[in-house]
Amino acid sequence: MVGGCCVCSDEQGWNENPLVYCDGQGCTVAVHQACYGIVTVPTGPWFCRKCESQERAARVRCELCPSKDGALKRTDNNGWAHVVCALYIPEVRFGNVATMEPIILALVPTERYNKICYLCEQSGKESKAASGACMQCKDRKSV
Ligand code: ZN
Ligand code: ZN
Repeated sequence: MVGGCCVCSDEQGWNENPLVYCDGQGCTVAVHQACYGIVTVPTGPWFCRKCESQERAARVRCELCPSKDGALKRTDNNGWAHVVCALYIPEVRFGNVATMEPIILALVPTERYNKICYLCEQSGKESKAASGACMQCKDRKSV
């Protein structure tokens, strides 16, 4: 993820909605203020929630996808999830819509976690194919 916002991928920032870069060591997170629910942008260094938490990196993984990088937030079950994953899965809610946290996973049907990702399987990543929550095409005939 180079340059652009981890949530919407846009590389442009605006005065009223700037791109904010995480100052965590080795962290590449960049997000728009509004995309990550940053209520006020600090004048000094800013840290994404993952860097702020100081949790061991090995323990931080998204509950909804196999990727560990990107803009993560706490979930209601004490884990982590990407903001972008939360926006994709229709049953996911934000506890507070202004701060976009915590990410509420309680309403996600378990069947989403039981599906196999077609794209991961095709590229030989079976281990990843079964992890996370899947989106299924509404037109079941095409699956
Ligand atoms: Zn954005
Ligand atoms: Zn960070």
